[in-house]
Amino acid sequence: VWAKVPQGPPDAILGITEAYKADSHPEKINLGVGAYRDDKGKPYVLPSVRSAEKKVVDAALNKEYAGITGVPEFTKAAARLAYGSDSPVIQEDRVAVTQSISGTGALRIGGAFLERFYPGGKTIYIPTPSWANHNAVFKDSGLRVEKYRYYNKDTIGLDFEGMVEDIKNMPKGSIVLLHACAHNPTGVDPTEDQWRSISDAVKEGGHYPFFDMAYQGFASGDTAKDAFALRHFISEGHRPCLAQSFAKNMGLYGERVGAFSIVCESTEEKKRIDSQIKILVRPLYSNPPVHGARIASEILNDSALNQQWLGEVKGMADRIIKMRALLKENLEKLGSKHDWSHITSQIGMFAYTGLTAEQMDKLAKEYSVYATKDGRISVAGITSDNVRRLAEAIYKVKG
Ligand code: PMP
Repeated sequence: VWAKVPQGPPDAILGITEAYKADSHPEKINLGVGAYRDDKGKPYVLPSVRSAEKKVVDAALNKEYAGITGVPEFTKAAARLAYGSDSPVIQEDRVAVTQSISGTGALRIGGAFLERFYPGGKTIYIPTPSWANHNAVFKDSGLRVEKYRYYNKDTIGLDFEGMVEDIKNMPKGSIVLLHACAHNPTGVDPTEDQWRSISDAVKEGGHYPFFDMAYQGFASGDTAKDAFALRHFISEGHRPCLAQSFAKNMGLYGERVGAFSIVCESTEEKKRIDSQIKILVRPLYSNPPVHGARIASEILNDSALNQQWLGEVKGMADRIIKMRALLKENLEKLGSKHDWSHITSQIGMFAYTGLTAEQMDKLAKEYSVYATKDGRISVAGITSDNVRRLAEAIYKVKG
């Protein structure tokens, strides 16, 4: 039956992990994966997550199904975290929210909802470059995917003019995907002033903003600061939709905890949207898993645990910021004449080094440093112990 099914290409990131595993160099470095590591290079389970999980287990809850839209205490708290408790959209009870299979699932529900109901053109514009899965998720949701300019490879920074111009030139009422903070893969974010202009451009075009917020708190260490763009758009009268992930900021990667929400005009509209989200989710997976959502719910709703978690998120963000500074410092100490300021001005898990595919190849083959060919490195994989060797390797391939 399957004689005509062609062999698909391997996943780019998993391929890197395999090459890394096969390498016998004692000081090999893996900067491919987008998961946080502690300063010893080990996966990190947040102590607040351990405590919350213990509370959940000790409560000996039953394993009945959640509703179609998930664990309500979790989804309510997730919306408050994103929009802010004092936001009019929360106060006026006009956010339709559903639990999702982490950020990817949230994007997929969003894509499917827009495909079914968005009254404008079914085209979503994503930045160049964007998280590699955006294209596939939205295409498989039945949307057309187009690009807007975002990254300027000459400055290793934001192509702000290009971005605004492209947004203005999109057909009226287009869907625009925006990374709320810690843009993946570049680590390049607009400034707050630039976000204001982007919001104006989206409004001018009558476009529909779709925020992907996979790193709230993880970027700056401050959950409100990282939500600036989303909250600013709302204060400007936009009614966006939002994909949230708790993979990074709670380290709940494999638990698949996320939420998808749509800001509505009224509670009445919210009820209609809610009913359609349920109709959409039911044949997809019926209802989401409860364990991870219960953990996140404890952290978001218990004030002592919440404080502890905020401290731990800041700890992760600060370690990443420190590794950026150390990498830049080491490159300069080695005598590199390049301007490495982008390493510290970028934010979040990833840094775009500006290294070419050939230089990345050389890093892997000659120095056992593994990362994606686009020059992206996961700063989470840098440690106090390997940063010097990493800087030396980069210096040797790039100068
Ligand atoms: N969006 C972006 C921009 C991401 O970087 C990621 C994680 N790599 C996700 C969404 C979704 O991840 P997850 O499904 O693990 O929450």
